[in-house]
Amino acid sequence: MKIYNTLTRKKEEFVPLEEGKVKMYVCGPTVYDYIHIGNARPYVVFDTIRRYMEYKGYEVNYVQNFTDVDDKIINRANKENTTMQVISDRYIQEALTAAKGLNVKIATHHPRVTEEMPGILDMIKVLVDKGFAYEVEGSVYFDTRADDTYGKLSKKNIDELQAGASERVDVDNNKKNPMDFILWKPAKTNEPKWESLWGEGRPGWHIECSVMAKKYLGETIDIHAGGEDLVFPHHENEVAQSESANGVPFAKYWMHNGFINVDNKKMSKSLGNFFTLRDIVKEFPYEVIRFFILNGQYRMPINFSRELIQAAQNGLERIKNGLSNIKYTIENTTINEMSELEKALLPNLSKYKMDFEATMEDDFNTADAITAIYELVKFANINVNENSSKEFAQAVKGELEKLTEILGLLQQEDEVIADDATEIEALIEQRQNAKKNKDFALADKIRDDLKDRGIVLEDTRQGVRWSHKGN
Ligand SMILES: [Zn+2]
Repeated sequence: MKIYNTLTRKKEEFVPLEEGKVKMYVCGPTVYDYIHIGNARPYVVFDTIRRYMEYKGYEVNYVQNFTDVDDKIINRANKENTTMQVISDRYIQEALTAAKGLNVKIATHHPRVTEEMPGILDMIKVLVDKGFAYEVEGSVYFDTRADDTYGKLSKKNIDELQAGASERVDVDNNKKNPMDFILWKPAKTNEPKWESLWGEGRPGWHIECSVMAKKYLGETIDIHAGGEDLVFPHHENEVAQSESANGVPFAKYWMHNGFINVDNKKMSKSLGNFFTLRDIVKEFPYEVIRFFILNGQYRMPINFSRELIQAAQNGLERIKNGLSNIKYTIENTTINEMSELEKALLPNLSKYKMDFEATMEDDFNTADAITAIYELVKFANINVNENSSKEFAQAVKGELEKLTEILGLLQQEDEVIADDATEIEALIEQRQNAKKNKDFALADKIRDDLKDRGIVLEDTRQGVRWSHKGN
């Protein structure tokens, strides 16, 4: 299995630190707004890579954080006259709903920054004690000049960076060097704050990922992933913090997904071409969005347009029709056992799986993996018909389902059936809490989401009862 490693700018053979195991950290969203199509890409891409590794027999420990303390969240809370917690709870819920819709497997751990303060304070202290960080008036900065490997991930030259940064007008005079970045910032009035050795305050953005990766995966991890916009400064700063604090390499492989453009232009709020997932799913099913994302190799930029997503929908229909034809044969054929002719076709059938695996082994080229699936569907359309045996049709079905499952496709129906009571009750409890916190927007949203899934709620004296519509 070959992975393109941003650290070396080369495709490298994947060799895990520990046999049979993969320790993988993917930077998660800052929860202050709805998920947009650009956020959806890393969700889908790294989930697919995880699924492929699991298919290959690896046990994957997959960690994705939620950044639930940040200026953007605080600003939103102030605007809505509520607390940071209400805002972050709302958008964590939103992110989880989107992930579920996109058929992204739940992470092994989904840590939240606000619950990881002891680890954050510990690591900052280690950095200060080792001389990699310094405090000025309640702010703690990482000293980029103390780390002679700074810039190695983004391949940026620190002298040029320093020169560039010092020209900026908003330069912070407390810093020793313009490139130094904040680890701990002092509390402003009316902001959430925590006690620390340097006074009350809150952590900077970068330190959280170094701390959570260490806590849930260890000092050295196999794969660290995220969008390519995170390479600098976020991931560069993470490497600097982790390696300076722990004294060992941080991540063996760094993976970054490309951007999504909209109608060939960079997606931005100012251009007004900013698509949230909740808007897109009014027109296209989640599954089509997942399929659309996987139609491009993950490192390449992909273009989002109505025509292209429509084309993805048609492509997915082709695969679905192929599968339902096979199912029809299985249900209706009177022939049970495979004929000699059918047996002779089996090697062709396994060729599609081999093609699929070969493309996935080469830095997870899902675009070509989908081509292998189309070829398999073509084979099925030709060779599975009213004259086929049940045994043969089942073999073809098995192959097709195996490959689509690795890509997380064609599982929506099963998902709905698999909806279990525990999850629904957890949502009801969350709704009760939201009501208690007077966050009626969230409470209504949870009720509406459940209603969309055919689940109705009824307030009774014994508490909330739920049932499937029509039951
Ligand atoms: Zn991160």
